[in-house]
Order: sequence, then C-alpha cells, then structure tokens
Amino acid sequence: MTDQKPFVDIRHAKKSYGTLEVLKDINLQVQKGQIVAIIGPSGSGKSTLLRAINDLDPLTGGEVWLEDKQINKKLPHRQYEAHINQVRQEIGMVFQHFNLFPHLRVRENVTLAPKMLKGITDAEADKLAEEQLDKVGMLERIDHYPSQLSGGQKQRVAIARALAMNPKVMLFDEATSALDPELVEEVNLVMKKLAEEHMTMIIVTHEMSFAESVCDRVLFMDQGVVVEEGPPEVIFRNPTSDRTKEFLRKHL
Ligand code: ADP
Ligand code: MG
Repeated sequence: MTDQKPFVDIRHAKKSYGTLEVLKDINLQVQKGQIVAIIGPSGSGKSTLLRAINDLDPLTGGEVWLEDKQINKKLPHRQYEAHINQVRQEIGMVFQHFNLFPHLRVRENVTLAPKMLKGITDAEADKLAEEQLDKVGMLERIDHYPSQLSGGQKQRVAIARALAMNPKVMLFDEATSALDPELVEEVNLVMKKLAEEHMTMIIVTHEMSFAESVCDRVLFMDQGVVVEEGPPEVIFRNPTSDRTKEFLRKHL
C-alpha cells in the first residue's frame, strides 16, 4: 500500500436502524484507480455501506470523504442539497435493477443527467451518448427503448449512463445478480474494461471468480464488520478467519 492520501475514505462508519446495528465501525480506504470488492453474506451491510458513500443511507456515525471533500457533512438544508447534488455527480452508481427510464430511448437515458446538470448542447449530448454507448458495446441500440433490450444490455446502458457524468468513482451493487447466467459475462467484460482504464471502483459482488480476477483488494463483511481484508489471492486462497473460510466454502 502506498502512503498516498486515500481517494475514498470511510472512517468509523456506523449505521443503526433502531436497535439494529447494521454497520459497526467500518473503515475503508480506496486509492485512486484501485478496485475493491466487497463480499459477504446477505444482510451483512454491504449495500448499506455502498449507499452511505453518496449519503443515500446517511450514516449514524463516522465520516465519508471523497478526495478533500467530506460527503456526509452536516449542513443547513439548502446548502446540503447543493453539496450533495454536486457530490452525486462525481459518483456513478449501478444497482442490481437497472432503473432505466422506460419512456426514454437509450440515447436519452444516457444524456438526460448531463443535459440537465451540465448544460451541454444537443450536439455534445449526441457525441457523448455515442462515445459512452460504444464503450459498452451498445451503440447499435442507441435509438431503442429499454423494453427492447435484454437484461445484460440494459445493465450495459446503465453503466454508460453513469459514465456519461464522468464520475470519479463507480459503485456497483450486485450489478449482475439479477441477470440470467448467460448475460453475466457481457456485463463483467464492461467492468473489466473499466478496470483496465483504472477507473476507481467499489464492487459488491457474489461472483468470487470475477472479484478475484479484477480486484486489487477484497473485503469480507459479516454482521456489520469487516472480518478480513487483503489482496484477492490471500482472501480467496489463504484466508485467516474461520468466518471467511466458512463463507468461501459455500461460495467458491
Ligand atoms: P447486504 O447488502 O449485505 O445484503 P444490507 O446492507 O442490505 O445487507 O442490509 C444489512 C441489514 O440492514 C439487514 O439486516 C437489513 O435487514 C437491514 N436493513 C437494511 N435497510 C434497512 C431499512 N431501511 N430499515 C431497517 N433495516 C434495514
Ligand atoms: Mg445488498
């Protein structure tokens, strides 16, 4: 590990729903260009942690930083709205369900946010849509509606849409787990390409072989704590914790 300042820095993250402690003092530092996988059983707090990064699920304690900006800053309402809108433009998020706008063509799905938030011209928007869709292999479907696409194609459009905002970091929450098995690889390939381009990524996944092949670091979470973390070859091949071993026995 370098002594560089982390790009994404989660410090002592805590989250409770009533008496249920979902995150118990989580620390996660991600360097620029690093790819981190988060694995762990259902209910261990992976989605909550990911959603805390852009303050969709605000933490009950701790801090989240992106570069030199604290994301979960306490601010008066109007200032907070301006702050968080700015922050969310810098963080691309892809969920299990694609959440494309069904009434918009692929092109407009990709350009809606940049048009509204960055004031780009129609010509710039067209160029942007073409570039991003080409990147995910969906240029030919630019004028299709989401209902005319397969799940894997929709997910690739969702990735293009996130990339169109030129984010500093991409968060993936089980991006392939709702897909038919034969459609998983096309989405994984897009994520691998982003990895080769050194996009900073935090990837929640249940696909161990994918995590092993693309990630620089793996975090194993269970019951709201990081049980173990390290390079993929250590976590997957030589874990120290019994909980990690037990989980991997079921999932490898
Ligand atoms: P994972 O993504 O690892 O499956 P989650 O982060 O979704 O786990 O959930 C962690 C725990 O938090 C679970 O016990 C879940 O039931 C609980 N939880 C998540 N969201 C809420 C909520 N809005 N209200 C109450 N409990 C919640
Ligand atoms: Mg989840």
